[in-house]
Amino acid sequence: MPMDGVVGEVERFEKALAQTRRQISEVQRKVVERMGAKEGDIFEAHLLMLEDRMLVDEVIRLVREQKVNAEYAFHSVAERYHAALSGVDDEYLRERAADMHDLIGRVLDNLLEVKNEFDLHHITEPCILISHDLSPSTTAQLNTKLVLGFATDIGGQTSHTAIMARSLGIPAVVGLKTVSEELDSGDYALVDGYNGTVIINPTDQTLFEYGQLAKIKASLEEKLREIKTQPAVTLDGKIIVLSANIEDQNDVEAVVAHGAEGVGLFRTEFLFINRESLPTEEEQYKVYRDVAAALKPHPVIIRTVDLGGDKFASHLQLAKEMNPFLGWRAIRFCLAQPEMFRAQIRAILRASTAGKVKMMYPMISGLDELKQANALVEKCKTELRSENVSFNEEMKIGAMIEIPSAALIADALAKHVKFFSIGTNDLIQYTLAADRTNERVSHLYEPTHPAIIRLIKTTVDAAHRNSIWAGVCGEIAGDPVLAALLVGMGVDELSAAPTVVAQVKYIIRRLKLSEAQSLAEFALQSESASEIYARCQDLARASAPSLFESKKNG
Ligand code: PEP
Ligand code: MG
Repeated sequence: MPMDGVVGEVERFEKALAQTRRQISEVQRKVVERMGAKEGDIFEAHLLMLEDRMLVDEVIRLVREQKVNAEYAFHSVAERYHAALSGVDDEYLRERAADMHDLIGRVLDNLLEVKNEFDLHHITEPCILISHDLSPSTTAQLNTKLVLGFATDIGGQTSHTAIMARSLGIPAVVGLKTVSEELDSGDYALVDGYNGTVIINPTDQTLFEYGQLAKIKASLEEKLREIKTQPAVTLDGKIIVLSANIEDQNDVEAVVAHGAEGVGLFRTEFLFINRESLPTEEEQYKVYRDVAAALKPHPVIIRTVDLGGDKFASHLQLAKEMNPFLGWRAIRFCLAQPEMFRAQIRAILRASTAGKVKMMYPMISGLDELKQANALVEKCKTELRSENVSFNEEMKIGAMIEIPSAALIADALAKHVKFFSIGTNDLIQYTLAADRTNERVSHLYEPTHPAIIRLIKTTVDAAHRNSIWAGVCGEIAGDPVLAALLVGMGVDELSAAPTVVAQVKYIIRRLKLSEAQSLAEFALQSESASEIYARCQDLARASAPSLFESKKNG
């Protein structure tokens, strides 16, 4: 290794140490905040080890003398320390050995620039991304100017990766099982997000056919633009509130551009991931306030944070769970982290004066959880009043209905909220025991399964009996094929990715409520998911044929 190589390695090592120090201090700060100073002291030992001059000097000497890279030098020296500590017959020192082990991993990760995810910042020219998997947090960071489409081996259509792609407007196909093995860098590929296929090295004929489809699509876009400012009303006068799902403050532009009437679901968790620390109350307040003000007088329904499942904040360093979707997720996580939850609730309450803000809780499974969350909101309101901070006393709070138990006790829940928003993405996975991110069981993940239809109907009826409204904000709300079924069951609001809002509006404006109700009646007595889906398709295609012309199978 030449001399400048040695200097570079030493610099890399020192940078990785500094980065590790920052990360540990950050974890320590959070632990102190949530659990107290004593627990935070645990990290002092980590920090001291990082500052151990003997260890650091030995690593640097090894790099200089043996011309090895920083990873090798650090690993060999640190492992020697680790082995020495583990071998001592003293509990305290053995614990320090465990700390050391953790520390070695962190420093090496920083040296190797292993985040929890791979880094896609090196992409500099337009491309299609083919990968075994992409996490929602990586997808959220994709440069949409350069990543023209992506395809993955694993994942389901309602995984947050797919949802994120829809919201970014990136053509994507997930769950293709072996696509990453079939393509090499530099191959040409055509990603057809409408039909869920990837064509490798397409022929001229195929490219021509897709060129024709693109023209059909452009003429449809024109028709959709014409109804942008029109309401979502059926031919016989039933008005449906049509709102958009957003993940980010920047999505507000798309909400307006696609003619949605506000936001039916603001997934706030994307404020919490891809960063080194939790967002503060002030930071959250500014985001919520700006979104509410930009969309005023339309409502913005802010969902309290739904971390866990397939969305993790890397800085929270949560232990891996066997069943993350059944585990410490959403409201469960928030109720266990009252300080974090309190900051978000206060931020939302404060933002409620900037526009028409509403708030909803994800993953309510029972009445106690709902009451607990409401009690925390009341506490925050009392605090704000005593601080003379203004908020809207009438801000409406709703519950997501996305767990079968919640749908079945919707009557009881309805007495404690002002609206329901049915999260079918989760409701389907939990009812049918089919992981929404697992392509191996995607054939079981059926939105028109009779059990799902009945749970939606139970929820909507319970809402109406208790004089509150019920919307749907899962991905099925954005599927024009299923719009009539939901409208026919009495759903009051549909909330979908901004990019599909116009299509849903287009079909609603071509439906008769009476036809939609007959379809719903049929679905409620049917025993077959495919039979229900086929009926939905027949009605959708007869009502709005132009929406389906870009589908390969008509
Ligand atoms: C749902 O579960 O349907 C929903 C809208 O929430 P998320 O997709 O974020 O889990
Ligand atoms: Mg959900």
